[in-house]
Amino acid sequence: MQLLSDRILNMATSATLAMAAKARELRGEGKDIIGLSLGEPDFNTPDFIKQAAIQAINDNYNSYSPVDGYGDLKEAIITKFKRDNNLTYTPTQIVVSTGAKQCLANVASVMINKHDEVILPCPYWVSYADIVKLNDGIPVEVKTTIDTDFKMTASQLEAAITPKTKMLWFSSPCNPSGSVYNRTELKALVDVLVKYPNIYVVSDEIYEHINYAGGHASIAEFDEMYDRTITVNGVSKAFAMTGWRIGYIGAPEKIARACNKMQGQITSGANCIAQRAVITALNESPSRVQYMIDEFKIRRDLILDLLSDIDGFKTNTPDGAFYVFPNISYYFGKTLRGKTINNASDFSMYLLEEALVATVDGEAFGNPDCIRISYAASQEQIKEAIKRIKAVLV
Ligand code: PMP
Ligand code: GLU
Repeated sequence: MQLLSDRILNMATSATLAMAAKARELRGEGKDIIGLSLGEPDFNTPDFIKQAAIQAINDNYNSYSPVDGYGDLKEAIITKFKRDNNLTYTPTQIVVSTGAKQCLANVASVMINKHDEVILPCPYWVSYADIVKLNDGIPVEVKTTIDTDFKMTASQLEAAITPKTKMLWFSSPCNPSGSVYNRTELKALVDVLVKYPNIYVVSDEIYEHINYAGGHASIAEFDEMYDRTITVNGVSKAFAMTGWRIGYIGAPEKIARACNKMQGQITSGANCIAQRAVITALNESPSRVQYMIDEFKIRRDLILDLLSDIDGFKTNTPDGAFYVFPNISYYFGKTLRGKTINNASDFSMYLLEEALVATVDGEAFGNPDCIRISYAASQEQIKEAIKRIKAVLV
């Protein structure tokens, strides 16, 4: 009998994590790799949050928390949703999980039935398609290009809808394109969705605060969408807390209760110390972390400027998150240093081997003409990385 399940055999390895592991391995061999693959702030968690965690340890927070999160954390989340997004939730609509990733996995497993279709505007975050497939759903990719700033138009959405469409999943600001849907663009999508009342939306807003255009908009703010939107958020990005593993949803009560039930069987409540610290993080004004966002913006401008100087890198101007997603198809078919580049994976591997710079192949995000470069790295690292990339492309 086959040892491993079809489920895991059919699943792709997370390309972001695989590249980060490869970079780590090469560093272990003494290679001077610059890691621009993982989407992870290079800042330390702010001291006021760390202090709250230390306090929680000293206060003997060491037992299981409620599965869906501490009551006072849920209150902090409710206050945050009201303050930042003008969304009103009650405690039974909130579920705290081990990262936004678990939120997404919970939602998929409680909502998707076999052969349900989930619309994913491309490029999409690397794990969406596999989370959908793991739950026997069918990812339906909607291709977008730089010409529409990698945003899905209303007519593209409508064309992708079938009687089997169960959900639409998207992130804004988007990982990997950095695109931000403004209210008018969301309204155009909502105008389509109102015609299909059975379609639910997962709105992944984990990069909410990393927005250089200003004015984050949530699709659940539209009255027509509130009852069928699962708003996903977390502290990994804005608060530089990737390893603390806290994410949360605001959702229709039935869905939140189902996620609570699912989580109760598979992981229980998220880490109790991290939950306590997140209360402090969310109760503070987002202005406390503005210094990181200001620095990300400087780096975005820097990397766009440096890339504009290299042949064959076509980029949009990302308004949020900390990635650029250049189209590098110009290099396909070319041979550099004896290596033929046939696709984005070859290109990304070439940059790793020859320039010692780790990026991620766009294929994993549903766009095989692009690579993703994270600029959550110091300005010096960014300058050195782009200098090295430029040097190996001539
Ligand atoms: N959604 C997007 C768009 C992301 O980039 C990430 C990155 N990790 C996640 C969800 C998952 O975040 P978390 O660290 O909270 O699991
Ligand atoms: N979200 C980050 C990224 O896209 C972290 C890696 C991951 O969770 O896959 O790189």
